[in-house]
Amino acid sequence: MKILKFGGSSVANQENIKKVFEIIRKSQSEGNIAVVFSAFGGVTEVLLNSAAAAKNGDKSYTEDIKVLEDRHIELVRQLFPIHLQSPVLTYVKVRFNELEDLFHGIFLIKECSPRTLDYVASFGERLSAFVLAEALKVEGFNSKYLDARDVIRTNDRFGNAKVDFPATNDLILDYFHNNNTIQIITGFVASTSKGETTTLGRSGSDYTASIFASALHAESLEIWTDVSGVMTSDPRLVYTAFTIPQLSYSEAMELSHFGAKVIFPSTMMPAMKKGIPIYIKNTFEPSNPGTLINGDAPSGKLIKGISSMSDISLLNIQGAGILDVIDVNRRIFTALASVNINVILISQASSEQITCLAIRSFEVTLAKEAIEKEFFHEIRNGEIDVVHVISDLAIVAVVGENMKQNPGASGRMFQALGRNNVNVYAIAQGSSELNISAVVSKSDLQKALNALHEAFFLSDNKVLHVFLVGVGLIGQALTKMIATQQQKLQKENLLDIQIHGIANSRFMAFNEDGFDLKNCPLPENADGAMEMDLDKFITQMESMNFSNSVFVDCTASQDVADFYERVLEAKVAIVTPNKKANSSSLEKYKNLKKLAGKRSVKFLYETNVAAGLPVINTLQDLMLSGDKVIKIEAVLSGSMNYIFSELEKGAPFSEVVKLAKEKGYTEPDPRDDLSGMDVARKILILGREAEQDLHFEDISIQSMVPEDCVEAKSVDEFFQKLQGHDGEFAQLLAEAAERGEKLRFMATLENGKAKVGLKSLDNSHPFSTLKGSDNMILFTTERYHDFPMIIRGPGAGADVTAAGVFADVIRLGNYTRS
Ligand code: ADP
Ligand code: ASP
Ligand code: MG
Repeated sequence: MKILKFGGSSVANQENIKKVFEIIRKSQSEGNIAVVFSAFGGVTEVLLNSAAAAKNGDKSYTEDIKVLEDRHIELVRQLFPIHLQSPVLTYVKVRFNELEDLFHGIFLIKECSPRTLDYVASFGERLSAFVLAEALKVEGFNSKYLDARDVIRTNDRFGNAKVDFPATNDLILDYFHNNNTIQIITGFVASTSKGETTTLGRSGSDYTASIFASALHAESLEIWTDVSGVMTSDPRLVYTAFTIPQLSYSEAMELSHFGAKVIFPSTMMPAMKKGIPIYIKNTFEPSNPGTLINGDAPSGKLIKGISSMSDISLLNIQGAGILDVIDVNRRIFTALASVNINVILISQASSEQITCLAIRSFEVTLAKEAIEKEFFHEIRNGEIDVVHVISDLAIVAVVGENMKQNPGASGRMFQALGRNNVNVYAIAQGSSELNISAVVSKSDLQKALNALHEAFFLSDNKVLHVFLVGVGLIGQALTKMIATQQQKLQKENLLDIQIHGIANSRFMAFNEDGFDLKNCPLPENADGAMEMDLDKFITQMESMNFSNSVFVDCTASQDVADFYERVLEAKVAIVTPNKKANSSSLEKYKNLKKLAGKRSVKFLYETNVAAGLPVINTLQDLMLSGDKVIKIEAVLSGSMNYIFSELEKGAPFSEVVKLAKEKGYTEPDPRDDLSGMDVARKILILGREAEQDLHFEDISIQSMVPEDCVEAKSVDEFFQKLQGHDGEFAQLLAEAAERGEKLRFMATLENGKAKVGLKSLDNSHPFSTLKGSDNMILFTTERYHDFPMIIRGPGAGADVTAAGVFADVIRLGNYTRS
């Protein structure tokens, strides 16, 4: 005999039910089975909420119950041919008439006892199991409806009743002895010896199935649900979670106790006592082997899974005189037990000066009152302080029997949390060493789970979560490059890059799972696109709270750069070609570096100077290895180099500038290049990287924009006026040629002084050979003294810049590896 249990989501609608029937058909062809059903998906929730509404005098429950009735009727119509519908519809309608009377009563007397609530809740499973038993008959099965209230006996702790196993086992055996049809059993419900309806606790249908499996000595118990087994973490919170092939009963119990909703904790006990294997399987992917829970010894990884509970509060009981108070802990627990409060975790410092308890938040007021009442005298005498409450917390727990033999789990756990800026409020390790739990802020829960998941299960593969602002030429080239290299990086560099947020100046969009990079949409075309608001973009990034997040700024915007402090404070790394931040005040530059260090995140900006050429990294390496910069000479503007090297071919200056603009080498207004400001910003950054305290105001900048051209109102007017200066430039060129020299627009830094301007260089100077839009940087240092270190190559363009940004992102993946 096998017991199969199908949860609410497996029977949420006709389509799903058809899948369930196929599974039943296959199982039945292999041997004897009995089937336990939950209520149709979401029904219990509606019943309980409606009862609460009726009790509060809120008439809206009538509407909700009507919707529920229609849903059941519709299902009957879908599952049965017309001529067989009538008796089933009658059953459904009679049940809903009873419910209506019941709710009306609750509404009138404004009271709903736990006993009444259990009765209300029982309708969900009674309806689903009856309808499905009848539908299976139509499908040709020899099925029979079994109301579990007839065979499962419990005490009268309504809402969470305790099973009387001797009586229940006898009743089940007796019943099955006399029935050889396929029993279709209501999950969740039971009854007292007086015949009052009870329930086994929310999600208790798993338990029902285990009770039957145990009583009938079943060969196995199959829990069919909407995921492929117990996973390494809740797949709704950790997207990289995967199925755990095997768990011991104790591990499964521990995971479910700490929130792995996929299986109800008590389910393990009856099955475990009889050594019955439990399979957790996916109704929507039946061929997946899912998870096997049995008595086998642990194997494999250090831990098996990570689970969590949110809506937790901490109660701290402390006080200067607490050491003199006898029996503190016993009294705390007795006080809480007297009001039926379950303590989830306790932690006590060895000085015994403070006891810290984690409980469900909805019970916190009651718990505080109970403890303060118990210690009324001690509080009045000042021996104990008033009970201090911290709310909005969550618990994360790592679980696995292997932790017993192998040290290091707690080290790895707290390192991962610390590195991701997750503050831990309390810690507990069960003496069984099966679980280590930490209390964290609720807003950090998802990040904590992901960080732990990565540290324990994916330490081979690092995931970087990118938030990209600026999807112009560079941003788009970057997403394309990531898409192309994705597989290779995953395989060879064990790095997984996902983009979760994209924005341009007008729109922004987010995707929890990561955008499909092969078809990455523009923000305005993405699902859920909204108007861009930087503050909101960053708030959303913070609230998604991924571990290893990266803010990639592919804009040239000062507004975006103004948010860097906040980004770093949130422990999110920054990668950017935008030089606005590093070229603003020296104080801001230093502060950003300091902040990145303090928060242990990286701030990478290789592309601030000369696009993808390795200039900043090289300079940083030189400095770190103890070298000193004596002089930097550089051609840092591709557009300016193009202009002055083209000029040698004989065309007038204004025409060369026009050509450079047409080729896309200059900014839309070429004055932005000719003014030398951009080059000045770059040499400023290089100087600062060379550890010199440079201010922008200290740079002497020779602008190539003649004075009357500065005032020109439009680019066209600028070009007209520039023509008037063609002669001056031609003369400069001729004079240089006469000396056997060439004109180059360059930046120098020497003796703490930075200069930007046009220089006449003799033919032996490395810059004199520079053609087209190339950049070239010469570092003369204490070590590279006789011959400078030279870096040369294309220093502008979307592709080379994007490649440099991409390299920084990859570097980040390597830095954050544990
Ligand atoms: P059913 O209706 O079949 O009883 P539940 O909703 O009770 O299903 O349980 C299945 C859900 O449990 C999954 O959809 C998943 O979101 C959640 N869950 C939480 N933790 C885990 C975990 N560690 N492994 C698998 N599922 C989990
Ligand atoms: N229907 C019940 C609930 O939602 C029991 C179950 O689904 O297991 O809690
Ligand atoms: Mg369940």
